[in-house]
Amino acid sequence: MSQNKKNRRNPYGTWWLWALITCVVSFCILMKLTDYSSSIKTLRYSEFIHLAEEDQVAHVKIEGAHVAGTLRDGKLFEATVPHPFPDWDILRAHNVSIGVSHPISVMWYALLILLLVGLPVLAWFLFRQSRATGGNNGGGVFTMSKSRARMYLPSQIKTRFSAVAGAAEAKEDLADVVDFLQNPEKYHKIGAKIPRGVLLVGAPGNGKTLLAKAVAGEANCRFFSVSGSDFIEVFVGVGAARVRDLFEQARKHAPSIIFIDEIDAVGRTRGSGTGGGHDEREQTLNQLLTEMDGFSEDERTVVVLAATNRAEVLDPALLRAGRFDRHVTVPYPDLVSREQILRVHVKDVKIDPEVDLHKLACGTPGFTGADLENLINEAAIHASKKDQLTVKITDFEEARDRMLIGRQSKTILLSEQERRLIAYHEAGHAIVALMLPEVSDPLHKVTIIPRGESLGVTHSLPERDKHSVTQEELMAKITMTLGGRAAEELVLDSVTTGAASDFQSASAKARAMVCRYGMSSVLGLVHYDPTSRSFRYSGHTARLIDEEVIRIVNVCHERALEILRAEREKLEQLAMALLEKETMSAQEIYALLHITPRISHDLR
Ligand code: ADP
Ligand code: ZN
Repeated sequence: MSQNKKNRRNPYGTWWLWALITCVVSFCILMKLTDYSSSIKTLRYSEFIHLAEEDQVAHVKIEGAHVAGTLRDGKLFEATVPHPFPDWDILRAHNVSIGVSHPISVMWYALLILLLVGLPVLAWFLFRQSRATGGNNGGGVFTMSKSRARMYLPSQIKTRFSAVAGAAEAKEDLADVVDFLQNPEKYHKIGAKIPRGVLLVGAPGNGKTLLAKAVAGEANCRFFSVSGSDFIEVFVGVGAARVRDLFEQARKHAPSIIFIDEIDAVGRTRGSGTGGGHDEREQTLNQLLTEMDGFSEDERTVVVLAATNRAEVLDPALLRAGRFDRHVTVPYPDLVSREQILRVHVKDVKIDPEVDLHKLACGTPGFTGADLENLINEAAIHASKKDQLTVKITDFEEARDRMLIGRQSKTILLSEQERRLIAYHEAGHAIVALMLPEVSDPLHKVTIIPRGESLGVTHSLPERDKHSVTQEELMAKITMTLGGRAAEELVLDSVTTGAASDFQSASAKARAMVCRYGMSSVLGLVHYDPTSRSFRYSGHTARLIDEEVIRIVNVCHERALEILRAEREKLEQLAMALLEKETMSAQEIYALLHITPRISHDLR
């Protein structure tokens, strides 16, 4: 907590305290040492033997040629003697107690001082190192185990859902969390388990942090914000201690929200780390898992929101029930959302009445919310440089072009031609799906907004949990998968590399039909497993399998082409609509194409 006084304390304060203590202690030891050595009397060998014979020696310690001892009157002495010592008899005869251990030597004191001075210096040095390599906001050696989360009081959070433009589905999902935080009793009373962890998945800049903050704002509760990388330190155990501290704080101030940005920094699959910080990260992750499990017995409401760009790299244990079992996708904004985001951010900027935000939104496909915010700011800076009173459309264009050139390598930038191709490709998938009676999964939505690696997506929802799939259904699925490429062939009479993953999934399905499901009359009802050791099939069989797979894929491809030729008009209509809207729900598509959804399609 940077607001927390404890953590704000000047780290050098504790350092000076240590130095002072060390000085005082060393001084005392030195005093004692000089005192001690000055009181020791050095005897000659003959004097020592003489005193022994006179019964005046009480105790000696002999180490090599050196003797240290005490006289009966308590005085200390030392002497140098022949080695090996020849006069044991005299000592024994006069009841001298004999020891052979080292007398406390000056060496030991020196070592003690070295340790006292050296240890803090070493610690300080290591701490400096760790700050240079990872930590960011200070804290002394003794505040390392405190979490570095920033805490916001409800009064400090002005963000509400209204500040988040677009992202309707994400807001809807998160509205539940707000309700849990506000009325936990409602859920406890009926015995419902409150979800403790929600994972926000989406590319950077699309508003994950903004959404998390809005949840805290809506629920009017405290907000602890931390980045996954803040837990990573060179010292084993520090990350885990910080996690413990963070959750302790959050519980103390419940109801509250913990937001962990970039959770992949700690949450990567265990055992996948490389190099040194590996054990440390695992300990931190384990602590996080423990804390989240601890919630179940706790009445106080703490919800953990975490953000990541890639949910697939996270340790499966993190995603298990009771932990981050709810996932909310935060997508790239579509056309409508981009316009809304622009509207949110131009509020404080004086823009020329001629500026058409809708047009601006059309010209910025692939921009994130953060990009759009940045665009407005860049345009405003451009305008003020030229001493304009308002931001003009030319400023926006200038700023956009500059950003596009700067980002070209990082994001997928689509030319008009590419967008057209993607629109036909996705429309192809969708039309085939709609026209095949055997495709039982209802269409959910179609989008041409690039997302991660894939350029567009046609989502269908599994209608129900199926335990078996018929041969016809599998063929229909393969046909639908090939519909994208078929549309490209029909309309653009050139094909692209964009359908590679389609082919991969189509051939995988076809191969499974032949090798596992016994759905090929040529190969029969045999399970062919190329990895099996006990059952090998011949090269001839392998060729037969390949031929069958190719045959199935070809049949499906022909069928997809056939459907699209027959429904060419609908294909064009849908592609055009997608170019305009970028994302369309199943309902919108039915309305556009005047299709009555099959009963199963009505579910969503
Ligand atoms: P992330 O956490 O996903 O990386 P942020 O929440 O930090 O993204 O977003 C950065 C900024 O971009 C936000 O502070 C906000 O100003 C702007 N922004 C992003 N998405 C939206 C949105 N949907 N509506 C309004 N502003 C947005
Ligand atoms: Zn495709």
